[in-house]
Amino acid sequence: MTLLLLGEFEDTQVWISAIKTHQPDLKIEVYPDVDNLADIDAVLVWMHPLGVIEKFPNLKVIISTGAGVDHILRDPNLPANIPIVRLVDESLTSQMSEYILLAILQFHRQFADYKIQQNQQLWRGLSPRNTENCTVGILGLGVLGSDIAQKLNILGFSVRGWSRTPKILDNINCFSGETQLNLFLSECSVLVCLLPLTPETEGILNQKTFAALPQGAYLINVARGKHLVEEDLLTALTSGQLSGACLDVFPIEPLPENHPFWRHPQIIVTPHIAAKTIPTCVAPQIITAMQNSQEGLILNNTIDLSKGY
Ligand code: NAP
Repeated sequence: MTLLLLGEFEDTQVWISAIKTHQPDLKIEVYPDVDNLADIDAVLVWMHPLGVIEKFPNLKVIISTGAGVDHILRDPNLPANIPIVRLVDESLTSQMSEYILLAILQFHRQFADYKIQQNQQLWRGLSPRNTENCTVGILGLGVLGSDIAQKLNILGFSVRGWSRTPKILDNINCFSGETQLNLFLSECSVLVCLLPLTPETEGILNQKTFAALPQGAYLINVARGKHLVEEDLLTALTSGQLSGACLDVFPIEPLPENHPFWRHPQIIVTPHIAAKTIPTCVAPQIITAMQNSQEGLILNNTIDLSKGY
């Protein structure tokens, strides 16, 4: 079997050695150095050049290096009937929950205000906030959303979530569908976006959504940059409708040099690192996906193209 690494990889050697640790005889090539297009059985993909995937006549599976697959589905020339699988991994989920917890706690414990006071050498305690009165709303109750929801619940936050289909989760106030979106938003002191990017969710973090939140709410976007209407965020921060935002993802990455978010005092910018796939953790999944696709067995974590995630 031959696996092709296709697209943007920080270090292809790290991936190759992680995968070969589990299957030393696997042939791994790195695009564009392909011996024979017909030899490629599987592609491991992140932000591949458009139109390339359809060129492999014997391809059996497309594997996303990350949890999201919008970077694959943006290709208008994907071959029909080739399954797409994504990697679902404990280390990725833990990293994401850690990032969100950090962002929520720095907001909840008013660290930005204390930093301003420190710069003024001002020793003054601000009014404490009751954790159970802080409602965190999570857009998306999938693998990542449900994990952070449970962890926040253990810490004593009041947690609610919103998904496409109805859910029942212990101690989480669950909402679903467009009809319940405004009701869901109405109590959220913190709004976390963990939705996949689809035509339905693009631009969902907009003026209308912000207006439905309580005044002074805090936004965390760790899903995709195109969920956010950037102008609407700037307007909401200026008016005080939102008190701040922590953003890990952007429509254009890296964030352009002159982008207003870089220096905005109420915005925290991180370079798409909330949860990064660790090759040694996911290598066994990649091999299993290849073997199962070869043998015609059921694949784990396949994408439903009709839903787009
Ligand atoms: P997932 O398991 O597929 O869960 C997606 C959730 O979103 C599900 O609860 C789904 O509802 C809900 N949803 C989808 N479309 C919806 C709609 N139109 N209206 C309401 N809810 C909708 O995804 P995941 O693994 O949790 O990952 C979420 C996203 O995080 C990924 O797609 C990726 O873009 C992003 N991500 C970012 C980073 C980073 O480093 N910043 C890292 C990893 C992932 P149902 O449950 O009803 O299907």
